[in-house]
Amino acid sequence: MDKAHHLHPWTNFGPFEEKGALVMSRGEGCWLWDAGGRRYFDAIGGMWCTNIGLGRREMAEAIADQVTRLAFSNTFVDTTNEPAALLAAKLASLAPGDLNRVHFTTSGSTAVDTAYRMVHYYQTAMGRPEKTQMIARDYSYHGSTYISQSVGKRPGDRVPFFRYQETGIHHLTAPNPYRAPEGMDEAAFCDWLVAEFGAKLAQIGPEKVGGFFAEPIQASGGVIVPPEGYLQRMAAICRQHDILFVADEVVTAFGRLGHWFASEAEFGIQPDMITCAKGLTSGYLPLGALIFSDRIWQAMAADGARWFTSGFTYSGHPVACAAALKNIEIIEREDLLGNATRVGALFEARMKALEALPMVGQVRGRKLMICVENVADKATRALLPEDLDVGTRIADTCEAMGLMVRPLGHLNVMSPPLTLTAEDVGMVGDTLERAIRQVADDLVREGVK
Ligand code: PMP
Repeated sequence: MDKAHHLHPWTNFGPFEEKGALVMSRGEGCWLWDAGGRRYFDAIGGMWCTNIGLGRREMAEAIADQVTRLAFSNTFVDTTNEPAALLAAKLASLAPGDLNRVHFTTSGSTAVDTAYRMVHYYQTAMGRPEKTQMIARDYSYHGSTYISQSVGKRPGDRVPFFRYQETGIHHLTAPNPYRAPEGMDEAAFCDWLVAEFGAKLAQIGPEKVGGFFAEPIQASGGVIVPPEGYLQRMAAICRQHDILFVADEVVTAFGRLGHWFASEAEFGIQPDMITCAKGLTSGYLPLGALIFSDRIWQAMAADGARWFTSGFTYSGHPVACAAALKNIEIIEREDLLGNATRVGALFEARMKALEALPMVGQVRGRKLMICVENVADKATRALLPEDLDVGTRIADTCEAMGLMVRPLGHLNVMSPPLTLTAEDVGMVGDTLERAIRQVADDLVREGVK
């Protein structure tokens, strides 16, 4: 039925036609069971999202309770519901600085779309209507609607017949020190990236640029951790030119890096807006949020003649908001931020040790957000031929061993639940190591390497 009727997101028609899909039936903590009863350790964390782990009865009860009480009420114009109001206040208390205002969306993509609109609204309200242009980075992923995907720019994502927003969005080099120009150390690369931003602004005219979109760590582009000081310097340039800094924390918020939000706590920046989703409900129900500053609210509200003509039927959905409140309560009560920090350090260290393997060029990331970059040649950092699909081969080998890791081209990415234990770290590390060795041996046998 799935093969006959279900078009999967981001699917690859050829292999899907051949193999169909793996049917998942049950989840508990970090573990998944397929319809055939086989068990897998989910080091992908759903899709960077199952932060508290699966199968929590308490979540089911909170959701059921809200469904029985009030399954739906819209939040348009001036109606609200208790979970939406409580969650907005909770997010304001957790978010850094004066990010005290919340607009609910249905997903990360729609949060990014709304941020894009809000940049235009704010800049116009401030008397700068010409500030329409946006800056983002190569290898970023901001979602799958037309606007969010146009802000993002991973190689291979774009097809010529889709009509992306072609004008008004400019992309800078991804701050990936592993792929810095030859001979440039991290500090020099950082200077180079900051200079590139300056040059781009000079070219467009800073008076025309309204917003800068950045994931603190670029997740789906390959867990790119920027050079020390990069985000702070980019934020300072934004401030200087009245450019709003939009931190896309769809992945990094709610504990993946051991903090509610990574912008300030991990990177020392104070964004003007934060987009989040995923860990907000740990995937129990769909929900996204755009958290923005009092300053932006006041500017928009001062222009009282105009409506905020944006939002969704399911913005502030009471059941999704009730799930988010319970999810946040669990993260607090079980000190999952502390666990992400402590066990995350072990995970980072165990994964880093994989760099000893001949095929592993680099292991990067922080805490519970890690990526293994497989290469043909460690010295030159040259990649294996694309059609070998080394990331998928390693992921498939892991899957046969009962471990889920995510393939992304030649990379393998992991973002396990925050409940990860030291014992899990050992098991995931050992299994992934075995899989990489096995694939490397197979490639040698096949005469590839
Ligand atoms: N921003 C980032 C940084 C993401 O990683 C994602 C999803 N992977 C999105 C936005 C889009 O979120 P969603 O899939 O919920 O629309």
